[in-house]
Amino acid sequence: MVQPRFRSRTHRRVSVRTPGGTTKRVFKKRKPQKAKCADCKVVLAGVPRERPYKMENMAKTKKRPERPYGGVLCSTCARKKIVSEADDLL
Ligand SMILES: [Zn+2]
Repeated sequence: MVQPRFRSRTHRRVSVRTPGGTTKRVFKKRKPQKAKCADCKVVLAGVPRERPYKMENMAKTKKRPERPYGGVLCSTCARKKIVSEADDLL
């Protein structure tokens, strides 16, 4: 019988192949929610959905698009904001 704390669906059930060739069911913590645009709440592309310990070892370039407001605003909202900022300068 599995440990009582793993009987709820709080943890994910993942099948893992062991070095001996058998598959075992392991319990892992769930991934965080998808990153959303701060303005229109659309799901951001190019932003991985991983736990902090994996994000820590990931390259900065793999965590968000490399443009102004990358990982915060979606491409259309970023474009609108940049254009409006450029208009303010004129
Ligand atoms: Zn947006």
